[in-house]
Amino acid sequence: MPSYTLGKAPRGRFRWVLLVLPLVLVGLVVWGSLRRGPAPGIVIESARPAVGTATKIVARFSEPVGGLGRISLELSQGERTVRLAEQRFERAGAFSPTRGRFTANAELAATVGRSAQDWLKEGEVVLRATAERMAGPLRSRAPVVVEKRMTVRLRPPHLELLSKQHYVRQGGSGVAVLRIGESAVRSGVRAGAVESLSFVLPGGAPGERFVLFAIPWELSDGDQVRLFAEDDAGNRVEMPFVNLFKPSPPRTDRLELSESFLAKVVPAIASQTPGFDASGSLLDQYLRINGDVRRATLATIAELSADTQPTFLWRNAFAQMPNTQRRAGFAENRTYLYQGKVVDHQTHLGLDLASTEHAPVPAANAGRVVFAGWLAIYGNAVIIDHGYGLMSLYGHMASLSVKAGDVVSKGQQIGNSGSTGLAGGDHLHLEIFVQGKSVDPLEWLDEHWIRDNIATKVKVP
Ligand SMILES: [Zn+2]
Repeated sequence: MPSYTLGKAPRGRFRWVLLVLPLVLVGLVVWGSLRRGPAPGIVIESARPAVGTATKIVARFSEPVGGLGRISLELSQGERTVRLAEQRFERAGAFSPTRGRFTANAELAATVGRSAQDWLKEGEVVLRATAERMAGPLRSRAPVVVEKRMTVRLRPPHLELLSKQHYVRQGGSGVAVLRIGESAVRSGVRAGAVESLSFVLPGGAPGERFVLFAIPWELSDGDQVRLFAEDDAGNRVEMPFVNLFKPSPPRTDRLELSESFLAKVVPAIASQTPGFDASGSLLDQYLRINGDVRRATLATIAELSADTQPTFLWRNAFAQMPNTQRRAGFAENRTYLYQGKVVDHQTHLGLDLASTEHAPVPAANAGRVVFAGWLAIYGNAVIIDHGYGLMSLYGHMASLSVKAGDVVSKGQQIGNSGSTGLAGGDHLHLEIFVQGKSVDPLEWLDEHWIRDNIATKVKVP
């Protein structure tokens, strides 16, 4: 006869399981609702170190274990407190498709400053970010609070012009000497959208600085050339200082692109440009080189401009390569034609100097090599830093005889001329940069211009 145990109490070793199991389940539920993990993380970030007209604030919250409940961001000054932003999160219900989900990370953003809170006074403010965990039946809701103290500054820094007689040309360079207040963190010259930053004036009193500035070749409005100073709250003062602005509109030139020229320059540049899109016709590729690659190269040069020494490495006028004829000049708007049709427009921003093939190329002035190598449209190129943001570039060379880091004297050979990069024939492309912006090299080749415009304002050793 079979024996049935159904309906009878479990025997022996299985009995304890049924007794303990409910206790374990209750324990898990209690642990689950009490478990908190680490306290919610809060970071308050500000776009500027201080508060002025408008400083963007972002508070980032995280609670990866139980989820965020309520988060808020407040601003206090003195007795006054305002809520800048707040958000509440609900846990999705048991029957929701997203059941059990919670919010682990969130952020609150706000603008702090006189534009948003016109009652703010100079002094200190407190930013207070609060995070509560997701509420549970047994869970503590003790919030976590993080504060950030910031200084409020409402007046722009002091700015005073010390130099006189500023005669500048469109596409040219200049120097201004200024005195700034202690709160200034940035100062210099703004010319249109281009800013040239100041340096400590050698031998000057505290707060005295000077700026070697660029006037962009594309800027024809002299009113757009201003001295400026800014503090860490973004308060900014600008003042006009130019006595005479000489417009110098770009000249124009037309260039016929021949099949043989494209066949010479395109494959050489395409093969040495990582990631270059070599699809389409030679003309398609040429247009990408003349456009995208040119822009990327100028961006590289602008980055290199940070690698400048705060000292005068140059002396006297820059020297033109000997026995050369000036061909193309600075700021020539070139119209490119292919089979009689206009296919492109670009601006030539250097001085083309032609001599004999593979002629020795001397450094135009003393300095330190910051780049020597392949530089896309410039072919084999050398860039020399002359200090205080002034740099010279030598392009299209056949060979280079210096490397980055070398200190060179005026006239020292840095390579031989050639026709590498976007060059039709053997010549040197000489380009001068002030803080990464191309300026007219002719001024720097002219000792009278240097004496009247630079040496009368700052003492170049
Ligand atoms: Zn050129």
